Amino acid sequence: DTTAAGNKTCLVLGGGGFLGRHLVEELLARRWTVRVFDIRETFTDPAVEFHVGDLCDKKCLTTAMQGCSVVFHCASPSPASSNEELFRKVNVDGTAVVISACKSAQVSQLVLTSSASVVYDGHDILGDDEDSPYALRPIDAYTATKITQEQMVLRANMLNNGRLLTVAVRPHGIFGPRDPNLVPVLIDAARRGKMKFIIGDGNNVVDFTYVRNVAHGLILAAECLARDTAVGGQAFHITNDEPVLF
Ligand code: NAD
Repeated sequence: DTTAAGNKTCLVLGGGGFLGRHLVEELLARRWTVRVFDIRETFTDPAVEFHVGDLCDKKCLTTAMQGCSVVFHCASPSPASSNEELFRKVNVDGTAVVISACKSAQVSQLVLTSSASVVYDGHDILGDDEDSPYALRPIDAYTATKITQEQMVLRANMLNNGRLLTVAVRPHGIFGPRDPNLVPVLIDAARRGKMKFIIGDGNNVVDFTYVRNVAHGLILAAECLARDTAVGGQAFHITNDEPVLF
């Protein structure tokens, strides 16, 4: 429903990235006023105020947040990176800066894009809900920092004398137009003849969500948070429907 109430001003951290840019487009279609904060300028759009900067820089970030009621956090180093220090710097230390800047700029809602991998410890998961505990042994450094990041954001709920409300949305794999990772990596592996084997009995399932649905889920999370404070401090798994055979 693109006519649903808008007129809010928001900042999309990582709005130059794959998910962030789709979120920007969905927000504009709903008549939100949209600013982007990203370390690189990946597009220009007269309807969008683009702030180039590192989210670890509180001054720069607070300036970009002034007058925003909602902050969507979709920024992260690529999970394909092997730079553990960078994951910690951006996802953990940087998220502390994001929370602090939200307080300074009197932001009302912080919506984090987390990851379903925060509950994955190497065992098969089917039909899971949000009651599952965080993975004790996260599968990699990226996931370890996504867990800490989510915990920090959810703990920040009701900070600033109850003014700041927070929520986390947990997609698993995301696919769709302009995807820089998933589908191109699969196609590349297939081209190089590396897809000619089957792990398990061929009935493995994996969960992917269409990028526009993730963006819609983030907007719904913000809208629910504004209406119902009980949503605050909670994480929500998000998916299209059923997992697909992989
Ligand atoms: P992406 O790499 O396309 O976008 C991330 C954006 O963050 C980039 O534009 C990058 O420039 C920006 N960024 C990185 N470090 C920054 C910094 N220090 N300061 C400011 N901006 C910075 O990735 P994506 O796939 O769009 O992922 C968005 C979010 O969704 C991430 O939090 C990721 O963990 C989460 N997520 C993605 C998937 C997926 O399959 N793509 C699945 C689950 C969760």
